[in-house]
Amino acid sequence: MSARLIDRPLLAPPARRGYLLPRIVAALALAFACGAHADDGLAVRLRSLEAGLHGHPQRARSELAALAPSADAAPAAQRRYAYALYGQAHVLTGNTADAADLADRLADEAARTHDPATEATALLIRGAIESAIGDAARSAALAREAHALAVRAGDNNLRYWAALSLGTTARTRGHTEAAMASLQEALSLADAADDAYRRSSVLYQLAWLQHGLRNGPAALAASLAAYRDGEAARSAYAMANARMAESGVMELLGRPARELAAMEEALAIARTSRSEVAEARALVNLSDIRLRRKQHAEALDLARRSLSLARTAGDPALVATSKANAGFALLGLSRVAEGKRLVDEAVTEYERTGATAEIAELVGEYGRGLEQVGDFKGALALFHRERKLNDEIAIQTRQRALLEVQEKYETDRRNQEIALLARENEVKTAEIANRVVMQRIWWLLAGLFAISFAVVTVLYRKLRQTNALLAGKNAELSVQSTRDPLTALYNRRYFQSFVASGDAHRQPRRGHGDNLASALLLIDIDHFKETNDRFGHAIGDAVLVAVSDRLRATLRDTDIVVRWGGEEFLVYATTGADRVDDIAARILRAISAQPITLDGQVVRTTMSIGYMAMPLPPATTPLSWDRAIGLVDMALYMAKVNGRNRAYGIKRLVRDDDEVLAAAERDLEHAWQSGLVELHVLYGPSPASGVSANVSTFEDADPPRAAGIPASRRPP
Ligand code: GH3
Ligand code: MG
Ligand code: MG
Repeated sequence: MSARLIDRPLLAPPARRGYLLPRIVAALALAFACGAHADDGLAVRLRSLEAGLHGHPQRARSELAALAPSADAAPAAQRRYAYALYGQAHVLTGNTADAADLADRLADEAARTHDPATEATALLIRGAIESAIGDAARSAALAREAHALAVRAGDNNLRYWAALSLGTTARTRGHTEAAMASLQEALSLADAADDAYRRSSVLYQLAWLQHGLRNGPAALAASLAAYRDGEAARSAYAMANARMAESGVMELLGRPARELAAMEEALAIARTSRSEVAEARALVNLSDIRLRRKQHAEALDLARRSLSLARTAGDPALVATSKANAGFALLGLSRVAEGKRLVDEAVTEYERTGATAEIAELVGEYGRGLEQVGDFKGALALFHRERKLNDEIAIQTRQRALLEVQEKYETDRRNQEIALLARENEVKTAEIANRVVMQRIWWLLAGLFAISFAVVTVLYRKLRQTNALLAGKNAELSVQSTRDPLTALYNRRYFQSFVASGDAHRQPRRGHGDNLASALLLIDIDHFKETNDRFGHAIGDAVLVAVSDRLRATLRDTDIVVRWGGEEFLVYATTGADRVDDIAARILRAISAQPITLDGQVVRTTMSIGYMAMPLPPATTPLSWDRAIGLVDMALYMAKVNGRNRAYGIKRLVRDDDEVLAAAERDLEHAWQSGLVELHVLYGPSPASGVSANVSTFEDADPPRAAGIPASRRPP
């Protein structure tokens, strides 16, 4: 039966509450003296205050209170350093309300100034408070937050405290790996700052971590190193702590003599430091060793001495542990009533600090103590109480674990969401960029299309205009190429192409025996030279136009009227076979019956015509156009030589053979006289009368018996 060893996971190294150290006045005095001589007095003084904080928390607290005005005037980093120590001093002396006040003030200031380092300081003080009242998980959470802020602010003092605090709380909660990582970080920071006191503090924690892992050699090495660094830092408190850790390692290694010797050495060092806290711890730890060895009288004596020192130091936790150990010693000495009273007081004291796990352990040991002295009823009650406390702890632990898992899950989820959002954002940005590019491309294409469309439209319009112009020109050209410019009648070229195009089918074929025929007429104005000579060339032209008009008016639209030469016209008209003479008569009348009046001048005009029907009866052999025109030309000649203003029509050949045709072509008049050809003569109205036409017709005119005009020549 013994009082349990309790860690104090504060910013600076916690001590096993069972082990206490005596004060080392000389070492501390030296430390404080160093600070006083330094140029930058405040910084050095704060350093020595940090080293003396745990050994002399009361003194540190009052000195820091006195330092507050100069700290407020100092650079921000030193001011934070001072307040961090001040907050811890409040906590170490049991003034948690003052510590909370200070933390609140710093937090307000941090919120105003947006200063992460000041916020980290406030969080570290709050963490120390939580640690003192036994909430290691809450303390760890605050320290983690403070650590992140300290890293952000680049403040290595704060980072060291946060890492040490994280390492210590993780160790007490059994989170070995996390404890190792944080303590290694704290050790590196202490190394970087070349601070032996801080190194010693971290090594002390590492020694207990290895102790917890039952790793004796590593724990021993760490405790010895902690001692060396404590010595280098001239910190009796650190040296005493190191020896207490060494004593714990010896217990683990099963070397009771060394265990006791190391603890007694720790007590000796603590005494020289004149630190009531340190001395009280060493005494409590010694009483614990004696209790485990059932040396109850020695244990009682040691516990009483630690109780008295703890009261002087004003350390409530130490008072409680001392009372518990004294109580257990009394129980061991069978002074049950006295022992129970002290242990009850210890339990009450523990309850005041609210550390459930410690109360449960104490109550458990208390129960076992009562059982040994035969107070079974009391032992049973305490066992029930212990179980209830342990249940509470289990629930709290589970809830806390759940909360932690939940927190971790929430954090992971949030991080995933953030990553997802970031990725979505990237995708969206890319999409928007793509859309912009696509839009630009579409606009470009639309612009190109619009321009192309405009160009094509303009070109198309131009093309249409050109085509229309061309069509007009072509029509004009075709008119020009087929019409006579003066009279607008068809020209000779048109007639030739008409003949060549095969429209000659319009020439009814010989031997069909139907009533349809075409009339072919060749017309020549009589004495036109005289007209020109008398009235001038312009009037001559006008006469040609007037004659053309009369021809057009006399004939049908479908009949072809051609200006054949200067004052010669060719007519090709489809009509009944018996109507061919009528056409010739109509033309004679149309031209000769009325004189042509131009500019008040009366021009008497007659004409001579040679004509025939096509096919030419008896019409068994088709006649070529050349030969047909040749024949009517011969008939026209006959009209001229026989008096003009008349028409000679070839009615028929005597036989339908080449010999007769050749004879007619050679000399029409002779052929007529020979009876090979039948002619028909029509006389135009007398031009002198100037009135209506008086046309006489001769059926089968008798040929004059005189010949004498060469057949192949036209009269001049
Ligand atoms: P005939 O009765 O024998 O036919 O006598 P003619 O004077 O008409 O005969 P000729 O062939 O000797 O003369 C034809 C004249 O027609 C000659 C020419 O000056 C005239 N002539 C031909 N073409 C044109 C024309 O376009 N305009 C004018 N004003 N005169 C023309
Ligand atoms: Mg002529
Ligand atoms: Mg003539």
